Amino acid sequence: MEWTNTPEYSTMYHDLPDAASFWSFLFAVDQDLAETARKKACPCGGRLHRSNYLRKPRGTLVQLPQPQCLRLSFCCDRDGCRKRATPPSVRFLGRKVYLAAIVILISAMRQGPTPRRVRELSQRFGAGESTIARWQIFWREHFPQTLFWKVARAGFVTLGQIKSLPYSLVDAFLRRQPPSEGWMLLLRFLSPITVPGGLQIKVSH
Ligand SMILES: [Zn+2]
Repeated sequence: MEWTNTPEYSTMYHDLPDAASFWSFLFAVDQDLAETARKKACPCGGRLHRSNYLRKPRGTLVQLPQPQCLRLSFCCDRDGCRKRATPPSVRFLGRKVYLAAIVILISAMRQGPTPRRVRELSQRFGAGESTIARWQIFWREHFPQTLFWKVARAGFVTLGQIKSLPYSLVDAFLRRQPPSEGWMLLLRFLSPITVPGGLQIKVSH
């Protein structure tokens, strides 16, 4: 897919705010999402207790404080249940160790006419060629098949055609608002796919 004739292309992308405040803001959003999940309790009626995963998120040059490296999660406190409940996240995309924003940004830029900038970005965030190639496969082949996307894409009719993922998503969310707000909305939009089972593929018969 060629994007070279899109005039706004060069001004469309903004580097992520690579600042501690941006990552701590996203962490605060994750805490809110976690609190909402915790209040719902376990389907068995049990209470949910904290049972976080320690991750070492990659994709930022900022040294994140340890609490910010946690994938927030819960566990039911009832014997015989102990079911895990993992809320959606705006930071972690599935099991990928890279912060979601980086996975989206570098993958999207790959689809544009700026290979030099992609190289710079991937070097800066320590994502190698093979990692980026896996992200590309995720966006091109896996994501479009998910139940989430099959439902969600209907909402994009008025925003123009979704031609190429994740480029078109970044475009849709960042075109008309300040970068930090656009990123926030995009990450929140994608957060349902970050829970276990959220990347379920719809099988058509
Ligand atoms: Zn339970």
